[in-house]
Amino acid sequence: MNEAATTAIRVEQTQQSRLPQVDFNNLKFGQILSDHMLVAEYANGHWEDVSIVPYGNLSLSPATSALHYGQAIFEGLKAYKFADGTVSMFRPDKNNERFNKSALRLEMPEVPEEIFIGGLKALIDLDRDWVPSTTGASLYIRPFMFGTEAALGVHPSDSYKFIIITGPVGAYYNKPLRLKVETHFTRAAEGGVGFSKNAGNYALSLHPTRLAQEEGFDQLMWTDAKEHKYVEEAGTANLVFRVGDTIITPSADTILHGITRRTIVEIARHWGYQVEERKVSVKELIDGIENGSVTEAFAAGTAATLTPITELGYEGKRYTLSDPATREFSNKVLQYLNDLRYGRIDDEFGWNYLVD
Ligand SMILES: *Cc1c(COP(=O)(O)O)cnc(C)c1O
Repeated sequence: MNEAATTAIRVEQTQQSRLPQVDFNNLKFGQILSDHMLVAEYANGHWEDVSIVPYGNLSLSPATSALHYGQAIFEGLKAYKFADGTVSMFRPDKNNERFNKSALRLEMPEVPEEIFIGGLKALIDLDRDWVPSTTGASLYIRPFMFGTEAALGVHPSDSYKFIIITGPVGAYYNKPLRLKVETHFTRAAEGGVGFSKNAGNYALSLHPTRLAQEEGFDQLMWTDAKEHKYVEEAGTANLVFRVGDTIITPSADTILHGITRRTIVEIARHWGYQVEERKVSVKELIDGIENGSVTEAFAAGTAATLTPITELGYEGKRYTLSDPATREFSNKVLQYLNDLRYGRIDDEFGWNYLVD
């Protein structure tokens, strides 16, 4: 595909591991970063110089294009440690695929599998002692890319950095969510960049989210840009509802196509549930909560896997959903996913990528 495909990854190991200083019983999300990072440089139309180096600061020109014009995309996935010490990543091929869709939309170069998946494997193999073995904990993995051309003027950067950093994260307590249905601000419009995991999508969510938090909500439930009539997704997680034996999840090109959502849809179909990926109106959802037909609702994403939604705010009114403990499908699928990711059951779908 390109020269880097055959280029070996250069490895420079740290002289002093920071591992002994890590308190694995007290891990705050995103605060602790592992010993090494992978850095690849794109210039002159191809990827060159792929290396694993000690985690450390970057030196950048103040004119770095990503800081001004926003060519910056990322991914998020996790590696898990089995009881026998095996380290496994969950569906990293899907992250590579989505990353390249984000790249294409933002006029950035694709990162080939040899660098993305090959780089993940080499990096996590080297830092495998950073993958926690405590129950429910995992290694969070953040691949990202940004334009590095040191020149002003709106045009695609002529050079890029692709970097992977990782860090141990603790067991996630799935605190139930209270979501405000957002009917004023917009996250993404048709033809825009809602499906891509680019930095700007998160910057624009911060202000509306803070306003909702001041009203006592945890996060927003975004709606479509045109009419604010259809629900789309939560801040960094997709939405899934259950009505009878049907699992319903909003579908649109304005939402981020989550791998957790996709995985849950595939499991639900395999288990014989009816699955509908379609537009879901706010009215349908509110009516369903009021008449009791919506029995389950949750947010799905890599960070928390599955978080029950227990309250919805819409046009000044609050609607309460069922007790999470009573939710059959949510609890069953969460248990199944955990068993699968920690290697406690047969990987019947072939989703685990062992790092060996
Ligand atoms: C990352 C993300 C998701 C969840 O995607 P996963 O692949 O399941 O982690 C959903 N929505 C948004 C906006 C996201 O950034």
